[in-house]
Amino acid sequence: MIFRKTIEGVERPQMEADVTIVGGGPAGMACALRLSQLIDRHNRRHPDAPLSKENIYVLEKAREVGQHCLSGALLDPRSMDELLPGWRDEAPLDAEVSEENVYFLTKDHDYRFPLTPPPLEDHGNYVISINRFVKWLAEKVEQAGITVFTGFAGSELLVEGERVTGVRTDDKGVDKQNQPKGNFEPGYDLRSKITVMAEGSRGSLTKQLVGRFHLQGQNPQVYGVGVKELWEVPSGRVREGEVIYTMGWPLTTKEYGGAWIYGSKDNVVSLGYVTGLDYEDPRLDPQRVLQQFKQHPMIAHLLEGGKMIRYGAKSLPYGGWYSMPPLAGHGWMIVGDSAGFLNSQRLKGIHLAIKSGMLAAETAFEAMVENNFSAQKLQDFKLKVDTSWIKDELWQVRNFHQGFEKGMLHGLFHTALQQMTGGRGLYEVYPTHAGHTRMKRLGELPADGGDRAQLLGKAKGDGRLTFDKLTDLYHSGTKHEEDQPAHLVIHDTNICNTRCVAEFGNPCQNFCPANVYEMEETNGGKAIHLNPSNCVHCKTCDIMDPYEIITWVPPEGGGGPNYDGM
Ligand code: SF4
Repeated sequence: MIFRKTIEGVERPQMEADVTIVGGGPAGMACALRLSQLIDRHNRRHPDAPLSKENIYVLEKAREVGQHCLSGALLDPRSMDELLPGWRDEAPLDAEVSEENVYFLTKDHDYRFPLTPPPLEDHGNYVISINRFVKWLAEKVEQAGITVFTGFAGSELLVEGERVTGVRTDDKGVDKQNQPKGNFEPGYDLRSKITVMAEGSRGSLTKQLVGRFHLQGQNPQVYGVGVKELWEVPSGRVREGEVIYTMGWPLTTKEYGGAWIYGSKDNVVSLGYVTGLDYEDPRLDPQRVLQQFKQHPMIAHLLEGGKMIRYGAKSLPYGGWYSMPPLAGHGWMIVGDSAGFLNSQRLKGIHLAIKSGMLAAETAFEAMVENNFSAQKLQDFKLKVDTSWIKDELWQVRNFHQGFEKGMLHGLFHTALQQMTGGRGLYEVYPTHAGHTRMKRLGELPADGGDRAQLLGKAKGDGRLTFDKLTDLYHSGTKHEEDQPAHLVIHDTNICNTRCVAEFGNPCQNFCPANVYEMEETNGGKAIHLNPSNCVHCKTCDIMDPYEIITWVPPEGGGGPNYDGM
């Protein structure tokens, strides 16, 4: 299954690899670093039979490591303590969490929970810039002798029969008509004994893999999209290491989601709103949800006199244990957000991503020692996950998100029940549905939006506290080569221009946080127009399009947002 046209009949450079890790985020870097440590230890013990790190590669689609990494970001240190003892002395940590509070918001009021629910207790965790943190990890990986290729996207999986045999990187220098330009460089075929998918949420190669080998988990994966801004605020508004979570306004009790506010150093505040991508109203706009949230009196007060400095968006896999696909097969493993290693109750995934990368590295190392890259061998990765603290943590919340399918009140009831029964609740497996299937047609919804009116349509922005999408987007540092094939592949634009106009009102215009999709008036109706160079790579369109006709594929390597400092 190939989603992006590559230039046919071109001779491609071939490279042999032992392990190719696709994605240079926390999971990918932890995988590379752990593998390097194990090889070093092996070579000290067995100098007569050394293993080489020469053919281990990390592919990162951003121009520089970390540029596409966007997260809350609070780090639970557990996996880092295992990966690099003493890491706190040198890692870029912005603040240790010193205080956390949880609020329920109504339109005009805020109600603080008298006690912080245990899953949201964050003492001992760290506020970090995930961008700087991953850059630092990448330095460690490169110092360890592993090659990190930046500006190279994994464009296609190489597959022979039932076996994944590597990755083809993106062609460079291809124009909008998919023709080679003067600077054309064909992508590499990295022929790899093991390919580790560490692409983040809704990875494009992972999607190819899941589709080709029918790898769905017990439940479909469900997602949220986090829309985030960084602000500089006057001193004393949010203390360094202070964490605030909110539920409620502006979402109604029917949508899933909530906000975070983290106090970082130098009076920088990270705030964002995660909207579950299983909402019903196609007019809902997650970027507007964040703008509405900031107008709440409590939040507006915190930000008054401050300045928005950065913007970004990212999807998150919320489904939990039962939504994870098989984790390994013949020549491949899936780690981090690509597999769904995220605890949605705690709003944390970085520690799980790191640990999953480490366990995949241990599996890859054993496969190298035994020269056995079979499905049976690599499936040891799943056994390692099952006997690690990853399972202990995720098993306790295995039904958490599903409990909210019928709204907040049901969700709170099921959460309480699950807490008392070790995560089980009423049934062993709560079923769930892919989020896009819950979207309703316009005819089934009140024309004025009813109690959701505040969530619908584009935010206009006052330029001070609130912003329209293009102003926000400007602060994401997004850049792409303009003359290249669109990396948002719409398989049938007739559906957009006819059926979707009537049935859903083209929700892509609303759920995309970067104004990539626009409907233009034509003589006889409407036609979809794309601005792919705006894309911040959040993958929301690939997830939430009600007809499932949008496929996100990697643009030419190096393009995308620049989340420096986020
Ligand atoms: Fe996100 Fe898709 Fe919009 Fe890109 S085009 S910003 S992936 S919703």
